[in-house]
Amino acid sequence: LIGAGVAGLLTAWTLANRGVAVSIVDKVAPLAGASGNPRALLAPNMTPIHHVYEHLHSIGYLYSGRLYRYFNRQAALQQTPPILEQTGALDLLIKTNIGTVQIADYPNEMATTVTIEEAQQLSGLKTKDLTDNLYLPKSGLVNPQALKTLILKHSNINYQQLSVTDIKEAANKVTVIGEKESGIDGQSSVTICADNIVICAAYESHQLDKRIVECRTIRGQLSWFTPTAEQVAGLPKLPLKYSGYCAPFIGQSGDAEINNIRDNEPQFLLGASFVDADASIDIREEENQQNYDKLLEDIPELSNVLPDDTSAWQARAGVRTQTIDYHPLVGRLAQSRRIWTLSAMGAKGYALAPICAEALADMMLGCFTPLSAVMLGRLSPNRARLHKA
Ligand SMILES: Cc1cc2nc3c(=O)[nH]c(=O)nc-3n(C[C@H](O)[C@H](O)[C@H](O)COP(=O)(O)OP(=O)(O)OC[C@H]3O[C@@H](n4cnc5c(N)ncnc54)[C@H](O)[C@@H]3O)c2cc1C
Repeated sequence: LIGAGVAGLLTAWTLANRGVAVSIVDKVAPLAGASGNPRALLAPNMTPIHHVYEHLHSIGYLYSGRLYRYFNRQAALQQTPPILEQTGALDLLIKTNIGTVQIADYPNEMATTVTIEEAQQLSGLKTKDLTDNLYLPKSGLVNPQALKTLILKHSNINYQQLSVTDIKEAANKVTVIGEKESGIDGQSSVTICADNIVICAAYESHQLDKRIVECRTIRGQLSWFTPTAEQVAGLPKLPLKYSGYCAPFIGQSGDAEINNIRDNEPQFLLGASFVDADASIDIREEENQQNYDKLLEDIPELSNVLPDDTSAWQARAGVRTQTIDYHPLVGRLAQSRRIWTLSAMGAKGYALAPICAEALADMMLGCFTPLSAVMLGRLSPNRARLHKA
């Protein structure tokens, strides 16, 4: 597997769990790319209920929640932080294509509308009009670092740092060639032979194999800060979706490995900016300001509690990889027997990767997949629509 973001990690786990010996490599480190935010919001893109069976976001949301709750039980046994903090989430229905009438068709344990008083109590908001709302009891925050730690402990998974530069397919094997960082000599060349390879390198997948379409790169920056006890009391109490999203969380052991977050300290995150056709990941002060402005525009009452000096905020920028039809790329490459991809997860990788990895592992092992043939056609990396453009 090339690329150790959420797509590569979930594919590794799914194959390893079926007894396959997996090597996973990353040119930098696991979670070095878009997947390394301090927390990812697990919340569905809602659709009218009659579309759910063919709606990848809904299927992915339901499946990933179930898998992350299973991972939580493993993490509890190992006394490591939970993978999914199931906080529930409140969507203020500012940017959505579903209304309260359609929400009423859903089972309440998945999606419901709560009374204004309940919404105020859940969120801690006092003056915002919460008449129309979508409450998602099973939503929450995924802890990427906790997920990575759990997956890489699997005895069938071997991780190493390697920047892949070339892939060669022969009738009976695939050879991956790359450069490995080495302390003394700088870099050394490494060759790995495998039965199959899966390219999970997000927008860089195209550089590794031109049959993978070049995708849109949409830069995003997530901001966070450490609130005082007084600010904690006035900030939202659970994740909120507005035209962006925000959430309180507590730093867990391991967070500091990838982000500047201390154990047991309260944090408040908000984001995320959108900059089209930009694949740079420098931290920009103006995007912290945009995240601040967006939150206050939608929820003005937070101006009393949100610290207005955004220059002291922490931030992390990443790149969303998006196809023109918004579907990920899942499957075997054209005219190949052994090269597969799972990429283009867009803005919802934590909801989509588990079900896509499940489908991909089944395709690789010749089993029936949990997704319909129609859906697999929509996800195929070789679908005509992408290659005509
Ligand atoms: C600001 C922001 C906020 C987001 N918020 C959410 C959210 O709340 N919820 C959610 O579900 N999703 C969210 N997303 C989207 C989510 O982060 C992505 O969909 C997901 O991380 C994509 O995962 P990936 O594994 O495909 O890519 P990445 O995580 O980018 O992983 C690709 C990996 O490939 C490696 N790689 C590249 N080239 C090579 C090579 N030649 N050799 C070896 N390795 C290579 C890279 O180093 C990288 O680690 C957000 C994205 C951004 C940018």
